[in-house]
Amino acid sequence: MAERLYCGVDFGGTNIKAGLVRASDRAILSQVSIETGREHGPGPIIGRMIRAAQTAVEQAGVKMPQVTAIGIGSPGPLSHKRGVVFESSNLPGWRCEPVVQQFQKETGRPATLENDGNAAAWGEFWAGAGRDVNSLVFLTLGTGIGGGIIVERQLIRGGRENGAELGHMIVQAGGRPCTCGQSGCLETYASAWKMATRFIEALDAGEKSALSCRHKSGLPITSKEIVEAAAGGDPLAARIWEEACYYLAVGCVSIARVINPDRILLAGGMIAAGEKMLLNPVRAKFAELNWKLRCDGMSLEPEISFASLGNNTGIMGAAGAVELAINEGTIKLN
Ligand SMILES: [Zn+2]
Repeated sequence: MAERLYCGVDFGGTNIKAGLVRASDRAILSQVSIETGREHGPGPIIGRMIRAAQTAVEQAGVKMPQVTAIGIGSPGPLSHKRGVVFESSNLPGWRCEPVVQQFQKETGRPATLENDGNAAAWGEFWAGAGRDVNSLVFLTLGTGIGGGIIVERQLIRGGRENGAELGHMIVQAGGRPCTCGQSGCLETYASAWKMATRFIEALDAGEKSALSCRHKSGLPITSKEIVEAAAGGDPLAARIWEEACYYLAVGCVSIARVINPDRILLAGGMIAAGEKMLLNPVRAKFAELNWKLRCDGMSLEPEISFASLGNNTGIMGAAGAVELAINEGTIKLN
């Protein structure tokens, strides 16, 4: 049997990344990254995605007909079943773009489309920090908070294909307004971007911090500066950081009650804060807020730990989506 080769295309607001992955050992054989050029609209962008895939395949010294199939990870809203991406605030001008059909037409290979949070979760399950469990929940802490849910080795997309939006779990009813129209969503407290927004609001309201000068001189303040200042004992930075950890723990308790996964994996830029500043406080708050039930002395609780794919998450998730589609029978091998 021919070796299975999966091409993964990670479609992001800033960059399109593509890579060829060997299924047997999950090795990335080639990688390319090009600018998305968001202003150009759907037609040219889909063309760039296809070219990125073709370049990645060429760079690996492979011909397109040898590629098993192509997986595409994209921000939602989208329909996995129909293979289309809809308009969103990140993708102005997109209507109901037939991404999968375009890929199949231009490359002659089967293709599958997956929400990027779902793809990333599946990537960790297939090739990363979730390889040894059957059920996991994945949270990526970046500009927003993305998510993915795998239960008993099945990806849970939801009946209407837009589940696992874990960043929009309400953790504080009546809380801060979210861009989605709800209030008190997890990402309004615990995403890197919203945490920085809250910090700057506090500075502008006159609160004191070691970062006040930086802010006054017009330099940007991100979650990185906040966690560094928090580690150095700055009270305002510590408060904002601790609140983010608290709300993450609130979210994790709800996840534990609803899904009961073996593991909750945290990913994204914010995990650079490390075990001491991020994982330990989230675990401690989780233990405090969590129920106290035990089952015959056995812990019922998920482990909370870091994802492991880092910068390869997008490509591995998209490539892994091919394996998922094969498992689910939507891509058939000859
Ligand atoms: Zn929201």
